[in-house]
Amino acid sequence: MSPTFGKCFDPTGAKFGIPTYPWRYAPDGYATRRQLRALGLRPGGQPVAAQVMRRSRGRKTGVLVGYLYRIDLAKPIRPMTSRKWGALALAMLARRTCPQCRLDAGYVIPRSLGTCVSCAYPNEQRAA
Ligand SMILES: [Zn+2]
Repeated sequence: MSPTFGKCFDPTGAKFGIPTYPWRYAPDGYATRRQLRALGLRPGGQPVAAQVMRRSRGRKTGVLVGYLYRIDLAKPIRPMTSRKWGALALAMLARRTCPQCRLDAGYVIPRSLGTCVSCAYPNEQRAA
């Protein structure tokens, strides 16, 4: 075991507070935020479960740390929040509502008419 490996290897968390593994030696079942994202997952509010560490010359501390999350606690990424869906539904409703009679026409108001078909052609509607 090299000195670097030993310095970064703390699977019980005695030295660093949380289980620490050398870079690329993380146990199965853990993933970084980026790796979770590649799996279509997100941490989902869980705390950092473990970390990976490697020496880095560019850093003041001399080490580069990557935080790991438990894959079994991760949640799937929702493509759109329910609030966004609600906003979209409202926008669609606004586009379907006739500005003249204020009714939901059931279809998007044609821009060429500016109102629902009944308002645009009242005579034809009456004739039918
Ligand atoms: Zn109308």
